[in-house]
Amino acid sequence: MAETIRAYFKRRTRRTLQVCAVAVAIAVIAMALFAFGYVLAGGIVGVMAVVISGVGLWYLHLTKCPRCLSQLSATASSARLPHPINFCPYCGANLDSERPCIAH
Ligand SMILES: [Zn+2]
Repeated sequence: MAETIRAYFKRRTRRTLQVCAVAVAIAVIAMALFAFGYVLAGGIVGVMAVVISGVGLWYLHLTKCPRCLSQLSATASSARLPHPINFCPYCGANLDSERPCIAH
C-alpha cells in the first residue's frame, strides 16, 4: 500500500526528533565533560551536538509537498499536532491522499 503525504511528513518529523534526541544526548555528554574539567573535549562534543541538531532541523526544513514541491516544513511539523493542517497551502493537495513518487 502506498504511503499518504501525511505519513511521509510524520516519517520525516520522527526522523528529525530522533536526530535531535541524539543531539541532546551528546550535549549531556558535553556538559558532563565540562563538569569533570575536560574543557577542550567538552567543547568539541558540544559543537558536534549543535551540528547534529542543525542537520536534523535542516532535514525537516527541506520537507516539500510531494505534489507541488513547495517547502512545507511547518505543515510537516503540524502533522503530529491534535489539529494538523489537512491540505497543502500552495496546491491544495489533501495530505491524506496517496503520495506521488516525486520526492523522497
Ligand atoms: Zn503542494
